[in-house]
Amino acid sequence: SKIEKMSGEVVDSNPYSRLMALQRMGIVKDYERIRDKTVAIVGVGGVGSVAAEMLTRCGVGRLLIYDYDKVELANMNRLFFRPEHCGLTKTDAAKKTLQEINPDVEVESYTMNITNLQGFEAFKASLLGPDGASSRVDLVLSCVDNYEARITINQVCLELEQTWMESGVSEDAVSGHIQLLVPGESACFQCVPPLVVASGVDERTLKREGVCAASLPTTMGIVAGLLVQAALKHMLDFGTVSKYLGYSSLKDFFPTMEIKPSTACVNPLCRERQAEAEARHNTPEALAARA
Ligand code: ATP
Ligand code: ZN
Repeated sequence: SKIEKMSGEVVDSNPYSRLMALQRMGIVKDYERIRDKTVAIVGVGGVGSVAAEMLTRCGVGRLLIYDYDKVELANMNRLFFRPEHCGLTKTDAAKKTLQEINPDVEVESYTMNITNLQGFEAFKASLLGPDGASSRVDLVLSCVDNYEARITINQVCLELEQTWMESGVSEDAVSGHIQLLVPGESACFQCVPPLVVASGVDERTLKREGVCAASLPTTMGIVAGLLVQAALKHMLDFGTVSKYLGYSSLKDFFPTMEIKPSTACVNPLCRERQAEAEARHNTPEALAARA
C-alpha cells in the first residue's frame, strides 16, 4: 500500500522485506501465513496495546480488540497511547493508530465489558465463524488485569475449544508471566491457582481492591514482547512455546514449566475437554503415529 510521508512524498510502503528474511534464514517456513491469522486481544491496556502494535507491525491479518475503558492521562506511564487520545475509548484510539501504522490489518473494535452476562455472550459471539459454532480466531491473548475477566476468557475458550495465552504483570511491577492454555491439553486457568503456578517468581497478578498497583512500561513492554513472540511461534510453527514462562526482573530470572491439566479441576467443562483429549491421544491412528 501507499503511504504519504510528512514531506508530502507518496511512496510504496514495504514493511515486509525484513520479516520475509526470517523465511530466507530458515527460521519460519512460510511467513506470509501471518496475513491469514486472526488474533483476539482482550484488554488493550499496558500489555495489550503493545501486543496489538507488535502484531500489526508483523503484518497479522485481523485483530479483534476488546476493552471497556477510556484512555486517561494516568496511562501515560505505559507505551502506545498518547495524550491526544485521552477521552477516547482505548479500543477506538487503538484501532485508529494501528490502521495508520499498517492499513492492511483489519481491526475490529469491541468496546465492552466481557464479564457481565451480556458481555460474555457478545464476546463469545464475536469469536464465532460463519458456521456459528466454531471459532474464527487463531489465538486469543488475555491482557486483562483481573481475575474475573480471566475466568470469563477461560470459560469462553473452553466452550469454543480455543487455544489462548494468558499474561500478567505483578502488582509491584517487577515480575510477570505468560501461559499457554490449550483446552484439555494443558492446564486451564482454574486447574491450578495462579499463586501456586507462580512459585519461584514473586507473582501477585491478582489486583487487590483499593490498592494502587505500581506499573512500569519496561515490564509491560517485556511481557507484551514475550507474549507476541510466543504467539508468532505458535501460529507460524517455529521454535517451542513453553506452557508457562515467568519473568522476574529483580533476579533476571525466566523460569519455564509444564502445567498439566488437573483431573480435579473445579470447571466441569475443563474435565470434559481433558477426557476428549485423552480419547484423541488413544485412537488407533494416534497410537500408531507414536509407536
Ligand atoms: P490500572 O492499572 O491503572 O488500572 P489499566 O486498567 O489500564 O490500568 P492494564 O493492566 O494496563 O490496566 O490493562 C488492563 C486492561 O484490561 C485495561 O485497559 C482494562 O480496561 C481491560 N479490562 C479489564 N477487565 C476487562 C473486562 N472485563 N472487559 C474488557 N476489558 C477489560
Ligand atoms: Zn481446568
